[in-house]
Amino acid sequence: MDSSPTQTPREKLEAWLRYYDDLNLGAFYTDRRTMGKRPMKRVAASAPATLPVARPAIAVAPAKTAPPVSVLPILNAASLFEAIDRVEGDTLERIREDLGECTRCRLHEQRNKIVFGAGNPRAELVFVGEGPGHDEDVQGLPFVGRAGKLLTQMIEAMGLTREQVYICNVVKCRPPENRKPEDDEVATCSPYLYRQLDVIAPKAIVCLGGTAAQALLKTKDSISRFRGTWFDFRSTKLLATYHPAYLLRNPAAKGEVWKDLQKVMAHLGLKAKRASS
Ligand code: URA
Repeated sequence: MDSSPTQTPREKLEAWLRYYDDLNLGAFYTDRRTMGKRPMKRVAASAPATLPVARPAIAVAPAKTAPPVSVLPILNAASLFEAIDRVEGDTLERIREDLGECTRCRLHEQRNKIVFGAGNPRAELVFVGEGPGHDEDVQGLPFVGRAGKLLTQMIEAMGLTREQVYICNVVKCRPPENRKPEDDEVATCSPYLYRQLDVIAPKAIVCLGGTAAQALLKTKDSISRFRGTWFDFRSTKLLATYHPAYLLRNPAAKGEVWKDLQKVMAHLGLKAKRASS
């Protein structure tokens, strides 16, 4: 590293930062103004042994060949969040109890029922959607409206039933007019989702749509850039695909979703259900 007694403090600091950069210690001196712009690594789904991490500072052993670098930005670098929100001896019942008749964010004001999640507490596969819609708010169950019926078909095409999987959402109360949940609403609700995912400990998580994927991967990138790619989420494989409501509006995208689900099936050792004659 260059250093001379005539350098100003700023020049000295710049020299140190260049030195750290040369050592690949960029993340060591995070410039908070640029957070959200750092690239995230990912690998092709065909190479699950070198799964990328969504939070770069909790990195797994580096792959021998460098994986392709995506432009997927990270909003938050790794934090203590993962460590502090793991609850010893947790259960779904306890999480539901802790949630109570939640009033932690403004979504409680207009909701009818909290939609906690439903399905097999020991599911190998968990689907995470965005948030309850009208039908879900009335019934207190996830994905029971039109999009839910399509999700049921997708699950059955994978050779599974709804009872075998677990289905939940990023936020547990219906956003007014079905708007997207705000960042602070997601932040308030997601510790409960994380606990649910930790307790269920599935083999795979499928995010349905950009909101779920962005919330769990902590990115603002468009889902079209990373759908169908495996990520590592708290030691579980996570893949995002389009939301069934999007498929209702864009049926042409069903082929892409089916390809994504086939990757999940391969991971779970599932065979597609044969079309009945
Ligand atoms: N859309 C979602 O994202 N979740 C539901 O539960 C229903 C519709």
